[in-house]
Amino acid sequence: MPTLGIVALDAADYALAREWGCDHLLLDRHRELETFAHSGANPNTLEVWTSVATGVGPGEHGLASTGEQGEWRNPALAYASKVAPYLLPKAARVRIGTWLRGDSGDGTGDGVELTLRQTSHPHLFDAEGRVVRWWPGVTPAEHLTETWHWLNLASNGEITDDELWRRLYGNAGLELGWLQGMGHADVAVAGVHLHLLDAAGHAFATHPERLRETYERVDRLLGSVREHVDDLLVLSDHGMQVGWIDGDDDPGFHSFRALASTTLDADPPASVFDVREWVEARADAFDSERERGAAVMDTTEQQLRDLGYLE
Ligand SMILES: [Zn+2]
Repeated sequence: MPTLGIVALDAADYALAREWGCDHLLLDRHRELETFAHSGANPNTLEVWTSVATGVGPGEHGLASTGEQGEWRNPALAYASKVAPYLLPKAARVRIGTWLRGDSGDGTGDGVELTLRQTSHPHLFDAEGRVVRWWPGVTPAEHLTETWHWLNLASNGEITDDELWRRLYGNAGLELGWLQGMGHADVAVAGVHLHLLDAAGHAFATHPERLRETYERVDRLLGSVREHVDDLLVLSDHGMQVGWIDGDDDPGFHSFRALASTTLDADPPASVFDVREWVEARADAFDSERERGAAVMDTTEQQLRDLGYLE
């Protein structure tokens, strides 16, 4: 059965992807995707991805990034998400570092194990034959906490720049590798989120050559996914303001230039609120075509016994 792979490509900026000719970020049909800001002046990662999955705004899905129950449960991280990590003032670095090690003083002891909150609202991946990993608001999304932890370690000089990017590309490979596997697993819909371009955007908002290099590498990784997954929908939650685009007053802050692109013969969704319905219309078609035989497994009980898996 055909699988529709959804790649949630955090911070993939429509203008930058066009500027640099990224053919896999911008699949056969592409457009700028309308996004929104709710708790602040710019789009927020957790709020938008939860809206993509549920089709409703933060007021309904319950993950507004405001107040004490904010996305990171810590104002220092909300602040960090708005500035280039390398440029954080020392005091903010220390606060974030302390919090990420789990001795924030609020008694949670979460440390780097801390996970994002998840919505209880029904969502796109809530159905038979649909799978999702690392999606903010729907799964624990530990890779987001990891990304911020590593950026913080790098900005404090505790790991090298080379080590930081090895870890971030490693995660990107795990995420897209999982999606490649799902392309062979008889699922109708598989969704995965990557945070690499967001980290790169914050770090390289005034370094076009470094940011371009990251876009081109992610584009190549996406190209390899196309060899394994029948159809793709690539989405972002926002873009990134950069130092070389007129009108971008705050490089390193999120822009409203989100994107949507697809290999399917259809216009991509126009707004982040349209994605759920857009996918479900197509996923239902996948489900109705589905023909499953009985479960087949040749491994016999005797084989399992011989292998020591059964007493
Ligand atoms: Zn984001």
